[in-house]
Amino acid sequence: MKTWICFFLSLSCFAQFNYSNFDFFQNFYTKSEIQERLKNYLQKDDGVSKFYELSNESFKLLDENKNEIYQLLLAQDTFDIPFEKKRAPLRVALDPGHLGGLYSRLEGRHFHQLPTIENNLRDDLVVKEGEVNLYTALALKKKLEAIGVEVFMTRSEIGVSSFGVTFEQWLENHFEEYVQKQIKDLSEEEKKEKKLQYYLLNGQDKFDIFSTEDLYHRAEVVNQYKPDVAISLHYNSCGVKLADNRYIPSKDNFTMVFTGGSFEGAYMDRESHRYNLMRLLLTEDHAISVKLAKAVVKGFVKNLKVPIVDPSLHIAPYLKSFSIKQDEGVYARSLAFVREVEAPAILGEPTCADNPFEGLELDSLVVNEDSARIQAVAQSYFEGIVEAFGL
Ligand SMILES: [Zn+2]
Repeated sequence: MKTWICFFLSLSCFAQFNYSNFDFFQNFYTKSEIQERLKNYLQKDDGVSKFYELSNESFKLLDENKNEIYQLLLAQDTFDIPFEKKRAPLRVALDPGHLGGLYSRLEGRHFHQLPTIENNLRDDLVVKEGEVNLYTALALKKKLEAIGVEVFMTRSEIGVSSFGVTFEQWLENHFEEYVQKQIKDLSEEEKKEKKLQYYLLNGQDKFDIFSTEDLYHRAEVVNQYKPDVAISLHYNSCGVKLADNRYIPSKDNFTMVFTGGSFEGAYMDRESHRYNLMRLLLTEDHAISVKLAKAVVKGFVKNLKVPIVDPSLHIAPYLKSFSIKQDEGVYARSLAFVREVEAPAILGEPTCADNPFEGLELDSLVVNEDSARIQAVAQSYFEGIVEAFGL
């Protein structure tokens, strides 16, 4: 087991899917180190093993037709690497999830609670996740910059995507380009038909396409920035959604943080999954992500007084189906942001935004970046970064 943390190697020095980036790791890991990593955080199911061949001498990454993509020669003995000092200042990328504003309903992150005793019988109580995510990121950015950390944000205005435009502006200026990209390999006849299908999609379907494009673009701009670490900021939902889109407020409230990993065989035919499996297998990105995630969870529990999620809860089935537990409240999961960002990366879910107490604290009518709850969440991330990176 190698006990080193090399910040240089976890920097996003990798061009898109250029496997020669991994040449540094030739003759570096032993077979048992590779096996341990696959089991501990990378391989959710047996399907993944169809995409590699592991022997005493090598680890071969394969495509869906069993063609070799990359061969990594293995070391026969373990050895330790001296600790590399990180460079200063630290570069942090913050990604406030979703968009908020007019789009909070379309993105399904608009938590309008039914009146209950716990929420003071309010019938106008709404939490818009995209907005509280942004306020939390802005509060965290201030705290980090005050101690000399460089901060990059994937978006900085309510309702404005990582493309720097709103949904309507994207439809007007980028949708055609998106459609052309999707139909480029079709015959002329098919092109016409498919193009028509795209243009006949309803607003929600077009918004879903825009959201997905925005999500991958967030990872892209973060990779261009080349951070030392990236954090996607979210709030969870744990209650029951009714037909009129209101929520029965969640009696539960809990905290969790995700790292990348937990790949599934069903998606391994995608190049980005294979490439990022290799990255997480070989670099220290995962170890650093877990270290940060543990420190952040500790902060959430201390500052927010919210318990760590119990994975047996039926309201969090994804912890069993899609995730691999790394520690209390820390789970590897193949979420787009933490998978596609080529650096240590976490995605935080500090509390349940549809819990009545959180609803009153994060009330869309009054919440802003100075609100007590937003400050406490930002402080938890801040303390986690300070602890994990020894600032
Ligand atoms: Zn979210």
